Amino acid sequence: MKVKVLLILTFFIWSCADRASKSENKIEWAIALHGGAGNIVPEDYSQDQREAYLHELNNALDIGKNILAGGGTSLDAVEQVIRYLEDCPLFNAGKGAVFTHDGRNELDAAIMDGNGLRAGAVAGVGDIKNPISAARLVMDKSEHVFLVGKGASKFAASQGAEIVDSSYFFTEKSWKSLQKVLANETLKNKKMGTVGCVTLDKYGDLAAGTSTGGMTNKRYGRIGDVPVIGAGTYANNNTCAVSATGHGEFFIRFTVSHDISTLMEYKGLSLEQSADLVIHNKLEKVGGKGGIIAVDKFGNIILTMNTSGMFRAFANSKGEQGVSIFKE
Ligand code: ASP
Repeated sequence: MKVKVLLILTFFIWSCADRASKSENKIEWAIALHGGAGNIVPEDYSQDQREAYLHELNNALDIGKNILAGGGTSLDAVEQVIRYLEDCPLFNAGKGAVFTHDGRNELDAAIMDGNGLRAGAVAGVGDIKNPISAARLVMDKSEHVFLVGKGASKFAASQGAEIVDSSYFFTEKSWKSLQKVLANETLKNKKMGTVGCVTLDKYGDLAAGTSTGGMTNKRYGRIGDVPVIGAGTYANNNTCAVSATGHGEFFIRFTVSHDISTLMEYKGLSLEQSADLVIHNKLEKVGGKGGIIAVDKFGNIILTMNTSGMFRAFANSKGEQGVSIFKE
């Protein structure tokens, strides 16, 4: 009898200790963000420029970390991180959006809630200060998913989003890069832009958001992958949350972010295997340049690209974190 009691007691202590160590190892929250991928090579960036980018990426990361560590939701973290990056002129989104062929700024953004597969997106907007918040309003306050142009602005304004004069989006940097491309239209836009964020919160909810000015010199109302759910932005609590950056036409045709999720869901691949297959195999083969950031339901993070660089950062509740620009 004594032996039996002793055995039960030992088992009880062991299972408590096991559970405690498992919960210590469990990732409670995780976040990754990007500021665009492309031909980003060390020789094109001075020390000051690198520091400026790293500083902004770190600031954005801190915003997301504070929200998630404080018990905030994935959606709030994604929206606030992207708002910060949209307000920063260094990135091709919001304030720093690139110019179209006609010298205008036409911005796209999307947000997706992995809980319930809810989504909202706006495209081709030229007067909404923070398109990511407009996308969230579409998701939360309308019965639609995707609004475009003047209608999107009208709806966003009616919901209290900040509307600005189109001159707000003028930056010397974006204007010069349009002039350079116009002077030599065969010149491929070397550096892409776009900002994005993916998160897992303490409640097990995943979210993804992406915002962009698109591609310099775009024409005829061109819309990229960013606001297309399943192309540049996707989140599903059963699998992962993904935000992409790169040559949008390829990301639309290959439904990149949804493909990564479905490879996990139907084929049982890990996040890393799925992302590798899509970015380094399927896209690479056809010349689709770009990268993705993603987080799965366990908090595993992937930041991967088939270009020479991607502005990126990540952190999780275990204290692991990093910020980088070039391919290591
Ligand atoms: N994917 C964006 C677009 O095609 C551009 C980028 O990520 O740089 O609009």
